Amino acid sequence: MESQTLTCPECGASRINGLDCFGQLGQIGVWEYNDSELLAEHFLTVASYNLQHPAKFTEAAIEGLRTVFLAYLKGEMGVSEIRKKVAYFANGKARVLKPKADRQNYKLKRWPITIASVYLENQPAGAATRVRTWAQSIAQEL
Ligand SMILES: [Zn+2]
Repeated sequence: MESQTLTCPECGASRINGLDCFGQLGQIGVWEYNDSELLAEHFLTVASYNLQHPAKFTEAAIEGLRTVFLAYLKGEMGVSEIRKKVAYFANGKARVLKPKADRQNYKLKRWPITIASVYLENQPAGAATRVRTWAQSIAQEL
């Protein structure tokens, strides 16, 4: 997200202390170093972020992500199985990402919870719980 606006053009989240959604995701990633429970939810964190920021991905990639995300939340698919699926996409980047010129078609969608409710400045405690709540709220909207 390279937008200079105060709210995200894709998910509607507010910037926090100058950090856009991608910056907030980066900070959550930093917290993972000291929080094994949060690290264990890494897939949910990244998947939730990507599902709320789909503009740069192809339809097929988002559809695939949606499928594994929902299967994971239902306990139908484990992380190792997901890694295999994700590797399938990661190996052929052209199928995952849209050409750069086509990525600007942001469609703003309002979500009950965005990353701005997960990344609370200087409040890493409870982040794993917030990630799970975030993911469940997204599953309701898919
Ligand atoms: Zn956003």
